[in-house]
Amino acid sequence: MGKVLIIGAGGVGGVVVHKCAQAPEVFPEIILASRTIEKCEKIKNQLSRPIETAKVDADNTEELIALIGKTSPALVINTALPYQDLSIMEACLATGVDYLDTANYEPPDEARFCYKWQWDYNERFKEKGLMALLGCGFDPGVTNIFCAHAAKNHFDEIHYIDIMDCNAGDHGHPFATNFNPEINIREVTARGRFYENGKWMETEPLSVHKTFDFPEIGPKEMYLMYHEEMESLAKNIPGIKRMRFWMTFSQEYLTHLRVLQNVGMTRIDPVEYEGRSIVPLKFLKALLPEPTSLCENYSGKTCIGCMIEGIKDGKPKKYYIYNICDHAECYREIGAQAISYTTGVPAMIGAMMMLTGKWKGKGVFNVEEFDPAPFMEKLGKYGLPWTEKILAAS
Ligand code: NDP
Repeated sequence: MGKVLIIGAGGVGGVVVHKCAQAPEVFPEIILASRTIEKCEKIKNQLSRPIETAKVDADNTEELIALIGKTSPALVINTALPYQDLSIMEACLATGVDYLDTANYEPPDEARFCYKWQWDYNERFKEKGLMALLGCGFDPGVTNIFCAHAAKNHFDEIHYIDIMDCNAGDHGHPFATNFNPEINIREVTARGRFYENGKWMETEPLSVHKTFDFPEIGPKEMYLMYHEEMESLAKNIPGIKRMRFWMTFSQEYLTHLRVLQNVGMTRIDPVEYEGRSIVPLKFLKALLPEPTSLCENYSGKTCIGCMIEGIKDGKPKKYYIYNICDHAECYREIGAQAISYTTGVPAMIGAMMMLTGKWKGKGVFNVEEFDPAPFMEKLGKYGLPWTEKILAAS
C-alpha cells in the first residue's frame, strides 16, 4: 500500500521492521536507515523478505531530505532517539511525507521532554496537507489508546487514570536498561509529576511508591514518575481530575541507579577528562548492554495497563485494561525482548492505520485523537492481546 522508511536500527526499529515485513499487503517496500549501517544489515539478514538499507545521520536534515528524495517513501517511521524528532519532522515537511514516532522531543543538553516543540509544527503540517502521529509506542501509545477506548465504550465521564507499567523480566545483568540507556536514565532520574485538578504537582524523584498486584505477575513495588502521555491525555480526556504514571523497579536497579547518581555518572553536562570533554551519561551508555543484546536469555513478563475510574449511567465505575507480554516469546518470534516488542508493534500498527487511511488528518496528532477501534482490533493479531476487567468501584 505504501513504501515505508524506518529510521533507527535499534531494539524498537528492529521490531518495527520485522512486524512491517509480516504485513506485505500494507508495507510492500521497506527501507531501514540508521547511523550505523551494520545494524541495518544485521536486521535485514534476519528477514525472509528483501528490504533496502541506508546510512543516515538523522541529526542532519539535509542528509534526511536527500535520502527521502532518493527513496520516495509514503511514510517515515522515526525509531531513532527523541533528539532527532525535529530534524526528521523538518525533512518530512520539506519532502511532503507523513511522519510517525514513539517518543516526544528532548533537547540533548536538557533532561526535559514535552510535546510543545512538536505540537508547534501543527500549522506547518496542516498547510502542507501532511499528517504527523506522535507517541505511537506502548506508553505513550497503547496506554493513550486504552484511555480513548475506555472513554468511548465504558464511561460517560473519566475522573481518575493510573497508568501502571510493570516489567517483571530477568535479563541476568545486575544493571541494564530495556530501551536506550541514555533516554531511560534521563527519564527515571527526573522529578516525579502528576496531574490533579488542572495542575501539575511535583514530587522528588521516585519518592512516592506503593505495591500493586499485577495480573500473571503478582505484587510489585511501583514508583510514581512523570511520563509523556499524561501531557496529551490531560488535553484530550475532558473532565479528568487526577492522572498518575507508575513504573516498577527492582531494589537492585534502584541501588545501582542511586550509586551512579551519587558518583556523577548520570550527569548530562560535559566534564573535562584527560584533555577532552565527555558527557558522563553518554560514557555510561557506552558501558551498559545495548537493549538488543538483552533478548536471548530474558525471561518473565511485562504488564502495562490503565486503571480508570469514573461515571457510567450515573454510577461510579472502575475499569482495568492491560496487556501481558512475555520476553521469551518475543525472542522466539522475532529475536526481540518485550520492551522493544511492545513499542515496535504499536508503531507498525499506527503506520498501518495511516497507510490504510483508517486514521487520517492534516496536522500533528496524538493517538487518542483517533477512533481506537481499528487499532485495538489489530493489537491482538500482531502479538499484543489485551484484557479488560470491570472492578468493584471504590
Ligand atoms: P536504541 O538505542 O536501541 O536504538 C536507537 C537507534 O537509533 C540506534 O540504532 C541508533 O544508532 C539510532 N540513532 C541514534 N542517533 C541517530 C542519528 N543521529 N542518526 C541515525 N540513527 C541514529 O533505542 P531503542 O530502540 O530502545 O529506542 C528507540 C526509541 O523508542 C527511543 O526514542 C525511545 O525513547 C523510544 N521508546 C518508546 C517507548 C514507548 O513505549 N513509547 C518505549 C521504549 C522506547 P547507533 O546504533 O548508531 O547508536
